[in-house]
Amino acid sequence: MTHDCLLWRGDYCISYCSFSCFPKPENAVTIAVSSRVLFRTEKEQKVFEQKGIEEYLRYQVEHENEPFAPGPAFPFVKALETVNNRLRELYPDSEELFDIVLVTYNHAHVGIRLINTINYHNLFIERFCMTGGSSPIGYLKAWHTNLYLSADAEKVQEALAEGIAAATMFMPEKQIEVSETQLRVAFDGDAVLFSDESERIFKAHGLDKFFEHERENENRLLDHGPLKGFLEVLGKLQKKFYAKGHRMDCPIRTYLVTARSAASSGIRALKTLRAWGLEMDEALFLAGAPKGPMLEKIRPHIYFDDQMFHVEGAVEMGAIAAHVPYGIAQKYPHKKSTNAGK
Ligand SMILES: [Mg+2]
Repeated sequence: MTHDCLLWRGDYCISYCSFSCFPKPENAVTIAVSSRVLFRTEKEQKVFEQKGIEEYLRYQVEHENEPFAPGPAFPFVKALETVNNRLRELYPDSEELFDIVLVTYNHAHVGIRLINTINYHNLFIERFCMTGGSSPIGYLKAWHTNLYLSADAEKVQEALAEGIAAATMFMPEKQIEVSETQLRVAFDGDAVLFSDESERIFKAHGLDKFFEHERENENRLLDHGPLKGFLEVLGKLQKKFYAKGHRMDCPIRTYLVTARSAASSGIRALKTLRAWGLEMDEALFLAGAPKGPMLEKIRPHIYFDDQMFHVEGAVEMGAIAAHVPYGIAQKYPHKKSTNAGK
């Protein structure tokens, strides 16, 4: 690998390059994660909200040797590192690896506690982006970010508007255990991998009309949605494992979990994925049934959905889910009283 790590001196964005070298952002799959989803920081947030910035900074410095507990994105980041280890074994000279950037609005003082926490949990994160309260979006673009995870829905929306795949994560009360050897990523279809064009039909005319519309248009490809690019890079890495004979024990597995039904509307989704050259390891067509129980079985490291009620349903079951605030569903949120949900 070349010794070409970035060091930002302007504003507040810094990246430490120590002895080890990291892939160039344009070669790596860059995952930007905010400190508030990688770790549990609710107590500190409370100090900030109730006592203000000065007291908050003092609190953080006083507790800098106490590591934060793992947050909702922690198992996902751990799984990315597992995949990286397998990739390094098979391709020692390749830069096509996951590269994790920790994004925080915090002041640099808090950085010491974050670094202590990263070391405590044996995480491999050397890139930090400390924005001192300002928006990280410009930096995300400079890093060629492939996915941004944050607790701040507004920042996530800003990122999506800039064409960066992004999702909001929430602090769960319970979290089921996930695989330590295989990264599992699950995607909703409409308004996540695909655009919201069909979702609009559903919102305007209901589920039956939606199924009918999709059957009539099954040979017309769907347009891409905000997470398509992320599925694409996962597919690219999967192929590297397949090329070395590791299809059956590939450490990346992808799932489509959609409210579409197989017979009437699923075929358009599958034809679109095939035309894009993207494979899904598993596709679940639920025909409007709740997604939570399925996700509980899959145990994904992350599940992406544009509809908040599906995210809530998954989180209630202890599954790890993230909200993609994109498309028509944000304007007309689903009412829980409705029988069939999409
Ligand atoms: Mg959807």
